[in-house]
Amino acid sequence: MYIIYKHISYRVVMDLSRLRQKILLLDEKRLSLIKSILQPLPMITGSLYQMHRPCGNPRCKCARGELHSSWYLSKRKDKKTKLIYIGKIAPEWLSTSVRRYQRYQKTLADIRKIDSEISVTLNQLRDAKLKTFDKARQ
Ligand SMILES: [Zn+2]
Repeated sequence: MYIIYKHISYRVVMDLSRLRQKILLLDEKRLSLIKSILQPLPMITGSLYQMHRPCGNPRCKCARGELHSSWYLSKRKDKKTKLIYIGKIAPEWLSTSVRRYQRYQKTLADIRKIDSEISVTLNQLRDAKLKTFDKARQ
């Protein structure tokens, strides 16, 4: 009986130190993500799309399959997607700014994910030490 009890308490201690270590590692990762976006460069929201379409003129080359291509910036606003015409070529500054925005958003999502992992692990740590009133009184 004594041996079994000792074994269980040893396992709880091990689990708790693993939980603490996990929280500290997540926090380290979280801080490095925050540092990576602390000094953002100019960004533009949306996504760039290249579309290939016929113009409708039956004598145009597009009627024989050589479609016209142009770039659009798509933006979501009030649950609607708006397409902004850019041109035949998407300028480098624009694609860079859009990429920066997407990377920033991805980092924010990663931080939120870590936040919730930290929260779940802190709850586990708390629950491991939770006692009912009746047991604490003994
Ligand atoms: Zn055409």
